[in-house]
Amino acid sequence: MTEHDAHAAGDAGARSPARAGSGPRPSETGETLPERPACPFCDGRDTELISPFGSVLSVAGYWCRDCHTGFEYVKWGDARR
Ligand SMILES: [Zn+2]
Repeated sequence: MTEHDAHAAGDAGARSPARAGSGPRPSETGETLPERPACPFCDGRDTELISPFGSVLSVAGYWCRDCHTGFEYVKWGDARR
């Protein structure tokens, strides 16, 4: 087991703030995205979907109008590479 793989994936500029969770949920298909997920930075709900696909297919790009920060929402369960 090495740390090499873990670091190679997340070095594309934007980090995934929603990394901490209780684990992947295989029942989710990834087709349904929340319209307004809570912002991971300010916990605000005034967010909007700006891109259904982020830097990788398993994330979606959102924009927070409260703190004017873009963030990525991780779509669990469809981690194709
Ligand atoms: Zn925010």
